[in-house]
Amino acid sequence: MRDFQLNPVLARATFTTSAPNLAQCPPECGPEVGFCGRSNAGKSSALNTLTGQKSLARVSKTPGRTQLINFFEVPNTGGFLVDLPGYGFAKVPEAMKRQWQQNLGEFLAERRTLIGLVLLMDVRHPMTELDKQLLTFADHRGIDSLLLLTKSDKLSRNQAAKARLGVEKLRPHSVVLNFSSLDRQGLSEASEWIHDRLVDPSTTSQA
Ligand code: GDP
Repeated sequence: MRDFQLNPVLARATFTTSAPNLAQCPPECGPEVGFCGRSNAGKSSALNTLTGQKSLARVSKTPGRTQLINFFEVPNTGGFLVDLPGYGFAKVPEAMKRQWQQNLGEFLAERRTLIGLVLLMDVRHPMTELDKQLLTFADHRGIDSLLLLTKSDKLSRNQAAKARLGVEKLRPHSVVLNFSSLDRQGLSEASEWIHDRLVDPSTTSQA
């Protein structure tokens, strides 16, 4: 079924480098699609599923790297997937949380090569305050957003579709998809959206 197809271009993604903040990021040299979401939303699982690589997001889960900005080059596109620090992590001290959020906010506000943002949200609790704030940053910059409602396998098809419609009403200009790393629903459409931005930045609203 089309829904489950792995994109062969994204499958070639490889870890390039990590940076603690915007100032230390590599030079802006190609289109970037960022991945963000509350911690535990399923961001690492989604990155693994989208690239068909179990070890890819392990990089981002390595202790000490979870709060870093991780870059993955996608060969033959000139572009990068950028795994941004998860937010809303309950066990982290307040000052550290603020620092992460500031790093994330700065990246979204100022990274000129960032042309697409994939926001991962648990289908059962989408659109928290922080999710909305991040989307506001993206909107200000004219960055396209793809909203993946993760763990959609945990709901019935009807319930999942209802959740998607609810988010679509709040975000009529974003693409909203039900997604699951477990049963791979939404994989083809999400991959296509990401791939299109990496190979042809003129498809974005910034063009
Ligand atoms: P991250 O913190 O956002 O990177 O989240 P992870 O990818 O580590 O996932 C957090 C938890 O949710 C893990 O226990 C995963 O196994 C689980 N999970 C992630 N994606 C899915 C999914 O699509 N379906 C289900 N049922 N569980 C998922």
